[in-house]
Formats: sequence, structure tokens, C-alpha cells
Amino acid sequence: AVELRGVRKHFGAHEVLRGVDLAVRPGEVTVILGPSGSGKSTLLRTINHLEQVDAGTVRVSGELVGYRRRGAVLRELSEREILRQRARIGFVFQNFNLFPHLTVLENVALAPISAQRRPRAQARAEAAELLERVGLADKAREYPRRLSGGQQQRVAIARALALRPRVVLFDEPTSALDPELVGEVLDVIRGLAGDGSTLVIVTHEIGFAREVADTVVLMDDGRIVEQGPPAQVLDQPTHPRTKAFLAHVL
Ligand code: ATP
Ligand code: MG
Repeated sequence: AVELRGVRKHFGAHEVLRGVDLAVRPGEVTVILGPSGSGKSTLLRTINHLEQVDAGTVRVSGELVGYRRRGAVLRELSEREILRQRARIGFVFQNFNLFPHLTVLENVALAPISAQRRPRAQARAEAAELLERVGLADKAREYPRRLSGGQQQRVAIARALALRPRVVLFDEPTSALDPELVGEVLDVIRGLAGDGSTLVIVTHEIGFAREVADTVVLMDDGRIVEQGPPAQVLDQPTHPRTKAFLAHVL
């Protein structure tokens, strides 16, 4: 469902992605690990064109992200077309990014109504179902500030799902949470994984990676240095950078 080929990205003189190839099959969970600054967030952000790539291509469900091919050249899509594409790619951030002036239910129903032009009543009914799925049916009328961090993050996940995404990207979804709230968020993500959703998750939760990932990817200095099933990458790493990283976090 997600395919990156030769993706490069630089900021000024710093090359942050140095030719990344990655394939995530439909229904699979890919967990991206790696040290701070290795390019994990930048990589995720290229998948929904929050960052433009300098070279290479990104495809989601076979569709080129951000560009249209004209003969041999790629032309960037219009703002509107980019927003339409992005609407099918869920993104869950570290800091929830809920709209503070909207209720929990409105947060979840907003994009389906405004970006996807779905009927209001249908979008709200679906939002209520999604809130039930993340265990927050009773919080639909609350405002985000009245919720715990773990609850806010579960709302953010429901909001991402409301767009019926082809893939959901998570950037350190639990790293801003108090330790006792991490479990409830991981439980929700585990549920999605079990339902056959396509997920790409940047996290430092190695135990969680071992449990839910089909593929673990180790990034270092803008490159994927090792990838494979968790039992291989986490328990029998071959690359020195993977060994060093795991020795550091375990
Ligand atoms: P962390 O684990 O700390 O979140 P990361 O692996 O997600 O790190 P990125 O956020 O992708 O790393 O950043 C990779 C490098 O690119 C870093 O050196 C960062 O400072 C740089 N960088 C990221 N975004 C920008 C930007 N918009 N402008 C300039 N430099 C940037
Ligand atoms: Mg990051």
C-alpha cells in the first residue's frame, strides 16, 4: 500500500534522507526505529507530502503522492489535489494536535464533512462509532482540554480513521504521554493492527514493535540500514548501527 523508491530530502546542506526504499504491503504493520535525527519523522512526512521529496517517488495504493507524471517529468499536484490525497492518509502526531475549540465528536467529524463532503449526520454517526472503538463514547461532548493525554491521543486516532485512510502514519504516538497512559494508546493501535489496517509507526517502544510489527525498519543517518521481521532485526541484528541502537534502548 505504501512504496518509497530512492527518496531523498535535504534541508540546506544537510541530507536527511539519502535514498530510502521502503515497501509496506496492505494490512501490514511497519515499525520504524532509529536514533534521534536519523530522519524518521521526515520519512513519514514525505508519505503524505508534508515534505516534498528532492528525488525519488512515493506511492500510496499505487498512486503517486504529490506529483503527476508528464512524460518523463513529474509535476507537482495542485494544493487541492494534494489535500485530497492527504485526506486518505491518516497521520497521528506526538502532540495530538486536536482543535481546542471543537468537541471531541466535532474533532472526529470535521474532516469528513469539510474535506470529504460527506453528509453531516452520517459523518457524526460514524464519528460516534469510532469514538466507541477507541473507548471514548462517553467523551463525545467534552472539549479536548478536559481529557487526559492518553484520551486525547485516542481521539486523534479516531480522527485519523474517520477519513477512511488507506494507511495510518504514527509519529511517536506515545512519547508525550505519562507512562501510565501509554498502554491505553498502544492497545488501540494494537486493535487496528489486528483489524488488518496498514500502519507505519515511528516509536521507541521496542516491546510493542516486537509484538505488532510485521516489519521493523532501522534508520540511521538518513538510510534504512536494516529491515525485516522483528525476530530478525531485534533479536539477530546484523548491522553494527542496529546493534548499537538496540544496545542503547534495551
Ligand atoms: P527524533 O527521534 O528526534 O524525532 P527523527 O529521526 O524524527 O528524530 P527528523 O525529525 O526526521 O529526525 O530530522 C532529521 C534531521 O533533519 C534532523 O537533523 C533535523 O534537525 C533536520 N530537520 C528536520 N526538519 C527540518 C526542517 N524543517 N528544516 C531544517 N532541518 C530539519
Ligand atoms: Mg521524529
